[in-house]
Amino acid sequence: MSEHFDVDLFVIGGGSGGVRAARIAAGYGARVTLAEEYRVGGTCVIRGCVPKKLMVYAGRFADEFEDAAGFGWSVPEPRFDWSVLKRRRDAEVARLEGIYDTNLLRAGVEIVPQRAVIEDAHTVRLVGSGERVRARFILVAVGASPVKEPVIPGADLAITSNEVFDLEARPERILVVGGGYIAVEFAGVFAALGSRTTLLHRGDRLLRGFDDEIRDALGDAYAKRLDLRLGRTVQSLERRGEGIAARLDDGSEIEVDQVLVATGRRPNVAGLGLERVGIALDRAGAIPVDATSRTTIPSIYAVGDVTNRANLTPIAIREGHAFADTVFGNKPWCVDHRLIPTAVFSTPEIGVVGHNEDVAREIYGAIDVYKASFRPMKATLSGRDEKVLMKVVVDCASDKVVGVHLFGHDAGEIIQAVGIAVTMGATKADFDRTIAVHPTASEELVTMRVPAVTKRPVAVG
Ligand code: NDP
Repeated sequence: MSEHFDVDLFVIGGGSGGVRAARIAAGYGARVTLAEEYRVGGTCVIRGCVPKKLMVYAGRFADEFEDAAGFGWSVPEPRFDWSVLKRRRDAEVARLEGIYDTNLLRAGVEIVPQRAVIEDAHTVRLVGSGERVRARFILVAVGASPVKEPVIPGADLAITSNEVFDLEARPERILVVGGGYIAVEFAGVFAALGSRTTLLHRGDRLLRGFDDEIRDALGDAYAKRLDLRLGRTVQSLERRGEGIAARLDDGSEIEVDQVLVATGRRPNVAGLGLERVGIALDRAGAIPVDATSRTTIPSIYAVGDVTNRANLTPIAIREGHAFADTVFGNKPWCVDHRLIPTAVFSTPEIGVVGHNEDVAREIYGAIDVYKASFRPMKATLSGRDEKVLMKVVVDCASDKVVGVHLFGHDAGEIIQAVGIAVTMGATKADFDRTIAVHPTASEELVTMRVPAVTKRPVAVG
């Protein structure tokens, strides 16, 4: 006798990965239910990429107002109103949330606005109503949440990137802790919006894993824009009047109005019922999956940050799409996690695709590194003290471009386009025969003639 299922797919989590999987599966005729305990759209739309980027845009006007003078404009003293930005940003997020809801409903997906947990390999329990739903497949797409690390006295006085969007006023003084994407982006935003900003990181450079010269360029740029303290940690936080006093490991103290801790994120697995079905977590607390996003239980799949593969929205979307095509569309495919273009929305921006020098050298042996470092044209009249850095890493044996690293305005936009060429396997000769677009910053990418350095294979033993 065939087993009875209420639905073909039960998706837990309405973020980027879950929503895409639900819509595509429903498009193949699957009966799909999606449970979301907070707001459909998930981290990216509700409290991540989208509202963050809107704040990045807001901050960048400050430079524009300043730079305009060099081009003949007189700009009256600009004033910034946090409440206007917050209201308009929140409205845009709500609009997008509505679109996500509508698209799911239009695709025929039932949305359940409650928490759901796993009871067994084919059963999900809705925590609010107690209802049990039998599903042929379960997709876990619950994402990750910020953590405050290390655990220090007074940590509850600090906020994370979740609460930062709730702030009703711009903090006059803010301490941002961490040196990853989130710390770097928000420190840049607050500094640009006029907060006295301290960015404090335990390492000697920001953005571990990125190209070292790009990290240095960012460090130099940030040291001009905010109070950058490297190689330091916070020991404790304590309420001091209206503010917060942060004691550092070098014995110094900083008084601020807000502390934003951005020291990483952890998968949202607590209480999900994974242990009931025998899914063991990996060392990072994430759900291990195979290339098709299947867990050790054949009827349960997981996509996005909860699997800690590459914690980026476009990856979650693609993993969700591949899952739905494979399981419901009879079109099996797997996401290639090897070549991922990415951007950090600092000001100036960072854009990267492929490997940094060290990794490329380990993989390919001999590499050529081409480099251009220059003052952007706009800065000649604006007088702004800043530089652009571009690096192209080439595998000597095949002539393939295996890494492009950009620091400068619009690096995120540029790297998306360069990413197509690199994904296609473009060689340095292909870059060279591409005609420059003049005058642009990115023309440097196709006019680098002589390697700045050639690196031989890493010596073994
Ligand atoms: P990251 O993992 O990028 O960075 C965490 C930072 O916190 C690192 O600098 C790390 O230092 C530091 N840190 C970790 N533990 C401690 C500790 N105990 N004490 C002091 N410092 C500590 O995390 P984020 O929270 O910035 O971002 C999470 C993920 O979200 C990113 O990996 C990224 O994938 C994604 N994201 C992507 C964005 C984009 O695409 N533009 C934007 C925002 C987020 P160390 O380097 O020394 O380990």
